[in-house]
Amino acid sequence: MTERIAIVFGTRPEIIKLAPVIHRLGDRALLVHTGQHFDDNMSRSFLEQLGVGQPHLHLEVGGATRGEQIGQATIAIERFLIDERPAAVVVQGDTNSGVAGALAANSAGVPLVHIEAGMRSYDRAMPEEHNRILIDVLSNRCLVPHPTNAEALRREGIADDRIRVTGSTLRDALAIIMPSEVERAGLLAEYGLTAGGFVLATIHRAENADHPANLRAILRELAGLPLPVVLPLHPRTKSKALEFGLQPELALLHVHEPIGYRQFVGLASQAALLVSDSGGVQEEACIVKRPVIIVRNSTERPEILGTFAHLVPAGPEIGVKAGELLARLPTLHAELEAMPYPYGDDATRNVVAAIDELIATI
Ligand code: UDP
Repeated sequence: MTERIAIVFGTRPEIIKLAPVIHRLGDRALLVHTGQHFDDNMSRSFLEQLGVGQPHLHLEVGGATRGEQIGQATIAIERFLIDERPAAVVVQGDTNSGVAGALAANSAGVPLVHIEAGMRSYDRAMPEEHNRILIDVLSNRCLVPHPTNAEALRREGIADDRIRVTGSTLRDALAIIMPSEVERAGLLAEYGLTAGGFVLATIHRAENADHPANLRAILRELAGLPLPVVLPLHPRTKSKALEFGLQPELALLHVHEPIGYRQFVGLASQAALLVSDSGGVQEEACIVKRPVIIVRNSTERPEILGTFAHLVPAGPEIGVKAGELLARLPTLHAELEAMPYPYGDDATRNVVAAIDELIATI
């Protein structure tokens, strides 16, 4: 196949999970970056580390409201698609950029493929849940990481012939980026940590970062853990923590600017425990075989609850659950090492095959 495929992305997790697909498509990939994430350490460093080339269209919708982001990006991407006429548009996940790519594909009459389709938290308070549902409804092909996602789509009336179980491309991204043993040891030295002797945490979801009581409770729980806690601060969390006057809580943690992907997964693979409200980190826990406490009211990855992942709301349950899990080390790490990755094999190959299969039917 030689047809060009437009790949629309705008945030850190999309760059990560689309990178292996972009590599496999090679010259066929037409890259559209909406600029939803625009800081060097949330975007450029990821493009560079994962070897993603310069976008063919680079917008600057970052920092705007959700409506402005979706509106501005949709207008510009639609124009781009009409000019370039790719054979298909690919979006990933649940972001505003994904919604814009989906709407633009739909209005430009270009078939749409959704990678990481069928994820559902059934929590309508999350903007991401609305984004996922919208994109799935518009997509010609919904490529799902796990059979449970296919079931979720069928329950919503999406026909079987639009669904393909491909697996998740995240493991392929980690294969590109995971540092060597020597580099991983160097990372510990750089951060002043010991293998298995620290907790790695990320917090950025609106339900946590935008609520002073929740954010304060999370930071205090982290500070109360018996191991040092490394917290790379998402720009949203940083600005909210400063706005809410939480500098004293931050001072008790090893706070950093967002960490490069190679460094992040290098640290995650050597942590005792992960604490996060991130979607990607939940899945990375299954790859680096570390337990993760998900600080949320709901998760779109219920299949890993009770094994790799443990769901707790912002508040004292974080410390309780962390205490339980840390008490089970190192046996717990050995148990997780023995568990298979739940999100499929050869996902990138399956994704590109599904795109080409769609194109062939048009
Ligand atoms: N991540 C990173 N550096 C950091 C924090 C996170 O590289 O300092 C990576 C992490 O490994 C994961 C991704 O960023 O793959 C998650 O992005 P985010 O939490 O922003 O989005 P989500 O996955 O929740 O959509």
